[in-house]
Amino acid sequence: MFSKVLIANRGEIALRIMRACKELGIETVCVYSTADKDAPYLKHADEAICIGEGPAKDSYLNISRIISAAEVTNADAIHPGYGFLSERADFSEICRSCKIEFIGPSPEAMGKLGDKVEAKRYAKAAKVPVFPGSEGAVEEADEAAEIAEEIGYPVIIKAAAGGGGRGMRICRNEATLRTNIAKAQQEALAAFGNGAVFIEKFLEHARHVEVQCIGDKHGNAIHLWERDCSMQRRHQKVIEEAPGPGIDRKKIEKVCEAAARLVKSADYSGAATVEFLMDADQNFYMLEVNTRVQVEHPVTEYITGVDIVKTSILVAAGEKLPYKQKDIHVNGHAIECRINAEDHTKDFMPSAGGIETWRAPGGLGVRLDTHACAGYRVPPNYDSMIGKLICWGEDREAAIARTLRALEEFEVGPIKTTIPLHAELMQNSDFRKGGVDIHYLERLLKSASGV
Ligand code: ADP
Repeated sequence: MFSKVLIANRGEIALRIMRACKELGIETVCVYSTADKDAPYLKHADEAICIGEGPAKDSYLNISRIISAAEVTNADAIHPGYGFLSERADFSEICRSCKIEFIGPSPEAMGKLGDKVEAKRYAKAAKVPVFPGSEGAVEEADEAAEIAEEIGYPVIIKAAAGGGGRGMRICRNEATLRTNIAKAQQEALAAFGNGAVFIEKFLEHARHVEVQCIGDKHGNAIHLWERDCSMQRRHQKVIEEAPGPGIDRKKIEKVCEAAARLVKSADYSGAATVEFLMDADQNFYMLEVNTRVQVEHPVTEYITGVDIVKTSILVAAGEKLPYKQKDIHVNGHAIECRINAEDHTKDFMPSAGGIETWRAPGGLGVRLDTHACAGYRVPPNYDSMIGKLICWGEDREAAIARTLRALEEFEVGPIKTTIPLHAELMQNSDFRKGGVDIHYLERLLKSASGV
């Protein structure tokens, strides 16, 4: 087992990883930027090391500084968390060449599943349902037009190396497709350093359903069932829940098994999420694979009892997965609300600054993953998420009632947060029915603002 893990991240996920390490008896080193220097969560690390200025490129994205920090502190492994360097195969490779274990997939496995075109190839072989579309990257407009004719419009052009909802173009006819192919290639090259683009069928109304998987270095991989993350704004998830409401259990079981097969076929070790869109008839189409732990992992932890962060540390250290597929059962329902420092009544304007009031909710079935507290200053440099409220109930209705109760207890000020928005959504009749699509929240916000 590792004796010391360096955490190359910040905020709630840094704290989440520290907690897992502590319970495993592993020492932690947490790196930080000058913008986070006074953050109270750093006190929970055995060692904290400043690696640079506030802008991420000077600190959390600076590979040489992070590696130096690991070397001077004698850390034997690095946990990248999510975001920042977590999906960079070159970082995983550099860790390997410095003889530091990267807690996550090998660069080879990340190459297979992290690239959207490659992932689709592996998915087809593993019989994971994918969108109809191009086999691999498309080069020419003629080729794209031919494929689109076959699968029918609308289609979407996507970058093989795309991420964060960027680099996508929806085309509703041949003329738009033809003018957009070259533009998309140039844009992809400029934004991601890889000009490869592909096309697939565009689904108008869909739900976002994803499958949590985890593999080890001995060729084992299992799934931990699904999450529904359809409540989104600008492609950013706002609420996640597990299991997916109203989904046929027989159908989803097949999809989950296929996802685990895909992870296994890539010799993948660590946590992975296979993301799908699901249409009204509950047909599934794979979007992509996220090769890291996700923000919303706690809802899965709640319903399965598996500690995903601890398990990924164990498998990175070479241990076998402590679970077999038959050990994984769904128990009850869990909902996560992302608490952002934003004013949702002012078009989600960021609300950085000092927190004076912080009254956290608690009680049975309430989990709050956060690095914030009274006296904490939210730095303007990073993502606005200051915490995640996750509530469990014996069924969905109980989970919603508990989430609403917890939100009502939760007081934060004077900065604005998305707590009031979540309280509204918990009382929204469409959400309560279950099964809203990925554009639901934007439609709702638009109608509320009267635009
Ligand atoms: P990224 O890596 O940039 O997040 P994804 O492939 O996960 O890209 O897609 C992001 C979002 O774009 C999806 O959640 C969905 O809202 C939309 N999208 C992507 N592909 C399609 C598609 N084929 N049909 C409909 N919507 C899509």
